Amino acid sequence: MELEFVVPGRTPGFREDHPYQLAIVGGGPAGLTAAVYAARKNLDALLLTKDIGGQTLLTSDIENYMGYQYVTGRELAAKFEEQVKRYPIDVAVGEEVLRVAREEEGFVLTTAGGKRFLAEAVIVATGKRSRPLGVPGERELVGRGVSYCAVCDAPLFSGKDVIVVGAGNSGTTAVVDVLPDWRADPVLVERVAAAGDKVRTYFGHEVVEIKGEERVEGIVLRDRGSGTQLELPVQGVFIEIGLIPNSELVRGLAELNERGEIVVDCQCQTDVPGLLAAGDVTTVPEKQIIIAAGEGAKAALSAYAQWSAMKSSRRSWWTGSPWPDGAKWLSPARGSARRHW
Ligand SMILES: Cc1cc2nc3c(=O)[nH]c(=O)nc-3n(C[C@H](O)[C@H](O)[C@H](O)COP(=O)(O)OP(=O)(O)OC[C@H]3O[C@@H](n4cnc5c(N)ncnc54)[C@H](O)[C@@H]3O)c2cc1C
Repeated sequence: MELEFVVPGRTPGFREDHPYQLAIVGGGPAGLTAAVYAARKNLDALLLTKDIGGQTLLTSDIENYMGYQYVTGRELAAKFEEQVKRYPIDVAVGEEVLRVAREEEGFVLTTAGGKRFLAEAVIVATGKRSRPLGVPGERELVGRGVSYCAVCDAPLFSGKDVIVVGAGNSGTTAVVDVLPDWRADPVLVERVAAAGDKVRTYFGHEVVEIKGEERVEGIVLRDRGSGTQLELPVQGVFIEIGLIPNSELVRGLAELNERGEIVVDCQCQTDVPGLLAAGDVTTVPEKQIIIAAGEGAKAALSAYAQWSAMKSSRRSWWTGSPWPDGAKWLSPARGSARRHW
């Protein structure tokens, strides 16, 4: 099977209908770190992901990842990729996992392209994605003036009037991104304040509609207090109102909280034996690269610890034997007494 992701000394590719010991879904900081740790523990693992880098690809300046005083998101993603490539792990890039199902003998992962992968255990590290506004005109004008990534698209709007929707960190970062001449100040809000009359703020307003035929031509806002509406002529709309977890693939299987995050314990274990989760998609507080990477490492080590416990007890969770305390899953021994699908 063709694959760009080449592991030195190993035929590149992945195997459908092969019972992997561990499948990792997501190629952001959490999933890539889990992949390195799983490979170093010699687990027969597969990484399935839509892309390599995840949200780091949307990040311009990173100044809080240890070891780098400054690095761009793309540079960091490339470093992560380089490190994963050193290890013998199967990687399938460009694959979207639609569903993880638990069957009698393990997990079945189904992709958007109709592929089917098997694994005895799964780490879900699918991160988050931008939250849409849900107003008329938004969906129709995505890519034609409506953007969810100021970092990626700001240069396309040079010299144009744009509006940034959202006043949290993402929104404030976006304002800085569309005004690239303010790189000097360290604190985002100070940068915005320093822009003077280049930036107008509309606190207490909500978006009613994005207008335009071929491209964005304007936006209608409503003052929440008075109800008054106003229309602004803008050519770009950056929507930065937060992120939602990519947890649909395990909805109905694992417990999610009210925000849709996968509920995990301190060992990244969900309520389903053999199903672990790491990074932004989980209930772990604080969504940061270094935290996601740490959680990815923890999930893989947790998977390995459970596998070791099963190995020493020579029991398997799918045989119907009672699970020993503290060990829920994985086969007794790699390549020996494993029961195949
Ligand atoms: C604009 C912006 C700026 C940021 N700046 C910083 C910063 O300066 N410092 C910092 O520490 N953090 C920053 N963050 C947060 C940081 O990027 C995230 O916390 C981190 O990337 C989370 O890593 P993750 O691996 O959990 O998820 P993600 O990075 O979201 O990666 C998820 C991965 O899963 C894949 N995926 C999703 N669904 C599926 C599926 N169904 N099937 C297969 N693959 C799937 C995605 O393609 C992606 O590869 C920023 C985030 C944004 C959006």
